[in-house]
Amino acid sequence: MKTIYNTKIKPGENKVIKIPIGSLPTGTPIKIPVYVFNGKEDGPTVLIQGGLHGDEINGVEICKRMLVNEYFTNLRKGCVIMVPLLNVYGFIHFSRELPDGKDVNRSYPGSKSGSLASRIAYHSTHDILPNIDFGIDFHTGGAMRNNYPQIRYTENNKKSIELATIFNAPFQFASGLIKKSFRATANKVNIPIVVFEGGESMRFDEFAIHEGINGVLRVLASQQMVNKDVLKNIPANKTITLTDRKWIRARKSGVFTPYVENGKPIEKGQVIGFITDAYGNRNLAIKAPFDGYITCLNNHPLVSQGDALFHIGKKK
Ligand SMILES: [Zn+2]
Repeated sequence: MKTIYNTKIKPGENKVIKIPIGSLPTGTPIKIPVYVFNGKEDGPTVLIQGGLHGDEINGVEICKRMLVNEYFTNLRKGCVIMVPLLNVYGFIHFSRELPDGKDVNRSYPGSKSGSLASRIAYHSTHDILPNIDFGIDFHTGGAMRNNYPQIRYTENNKKSIELATIFNAPFQFASGLIKKSFRATANKVNIPIVVFEGGESMRFDEFAIHEGINGVLRVLASQQMVNKDVLKNIPANKTITLTDRKWIRARKSGVFTPYVENGKPIEKGQVIGFITDAYGNRNLAIKAPFDGYITCLNNHPLVSQGDALFHIGKKK
């Protein structure tokens, strides 16, 4: 039996629970929908979460497609708790944050009577987190930066590394715990969370959406929660593990043109892009500092000095 926000969900039962957060200035109530799919037999409880950042819509779409395809309606065992859209306010404002500028992922563990971001974090911490064994949190790049599908795990955390490896994204790497984030809060109570990043905010990316869905199915099949036949038409990735990740930033302001595609290998000294002025003068070549891979590409052609252009990593 699961109990989430005073609602009981028996084995073999599926329910949608709506956690009230507040209302819009118009009086429209805002609730966070939580989909619970409880299998008949005991097993692990997995959180699948999208839209912690409201404009990172690939994760919301990944959840939506899994709901439409009814992947979890007859779980063999265990339980799936899906929060397709945690930050409802950000979603309707096309924004990463809340209308007051606060970031839910910097507001954990949250407070019942705090700002909207803090209230969302509070319910996530108190109503969702105690019910799960591990989780997958879906994100995208922000500000027109496109993340090539990648799964991030917590360094030296065996369970989190295992989870990322089963997820089998094109890239994987360790990423530090950010203070007051969902993953850091879960880590304190020994619940491993992996973060999938794919595509960019306010833009659907079919490749990233498919990689996200495939990763979830691999994880659930590995726990015998769904039949492993779901994987028969999903090719395995040769996951590349990255180290020494680095942002390459614009040395000058101007018009940026990348010369490499996202996800591709690069060699030390290779010209991977140019910055010119708006009229084609002062061509500034950007060179790869080491052999590695492009894991994030800035799609905004106009850049100021210091702007992030590429995120690159070395192969382990
Ligand atoms: Zn995010």
